[in-house]
Amino acid sequence: MTWCSGFLPGESFDHLADSHCHLDFPEFDDDRDTILDRARAAGVRRFLVPGVRADQWRRLRELAGHYDDWSYALGLHPYFIDAHVEADFVRLEQELAADKQPLALGEIGLDATVGAHDWQQVVFKKQVDLAAAHGLPVILHHRKTLDVMLKIVKAANVRAGVIHAFSGSYEQAMAWIDQGFYLGVGGVITYERARKTRDAIRRVPAEALLLETDSPDMPVQGYQGQRNEPARLVMIRDALREIRR
Ligand SMILES: [Zn+2]
Repeated sequence: MTWCSGFLPGESFDHLADSHCHLDFPEFDDDRDTILDRARAAGVRRFLVPGVRADQWRRLRELAGHYDDWSYALGLHPYFIDAHVEADFVRLEQELAADKQPLALGEIGLDATVGAHDWQQVVFKKQVDLAAAHGLPVILHHRKTLDVMLKIVKAANVRAGVIHAFSGSYEQAMAWIDQGFYLGVGGVITYERARKTRDAIRRVPAEALLLETDSPDMPVQGYQGQRNEPARLVMIRDALREIRR
């Protein structure tokens, strides 16, 4: 059984599960249950909530324990690179040694548009090595870094994970699929201008795709400037069906 079996959308993309949503973020503190109920009513059956920084992990783990349709991951996200310290690696190892392990390491990665590139590399490589040591998949954030990240992942022999918010060419998509990765398909495909990504998503095998919203971020077309939410996974699914028809 694959690590993300509860999140696989199936050949016709009829099984809805949000494989990437930040539902623990404070943006949802006032109405989290309403948002969840709206998503469930729309047919979304599971939620995978990734970690982004060490001071957020405990609350995330508690929330994931509270909702039985949540899974969670733990990681140090490049957006918060200035918040990460060496001691976080020790904490992460402790978390991974605990009884109830997270489903994956994530959200981790490299982002060429934020600073501290050397420290980003250290933090990313450390987490990829931890994933390899624990046999865990990784949830990868990328921005202009797909190829350099693939080299690091290959060197660590990590052969399971997902490229969150995949955007890139068909050749890049297949290189990651060959490495054992899924491609996360989100709101970006609802925009006509995302031609290269839409073409790649159209041509790759259906079983390599995972649906995701990245709530509260990455709004679908027509909802720019609004908080995103998992109920809108239906729109991403419909756009995907349209693209692949
Ligand atoms: Zn994210």
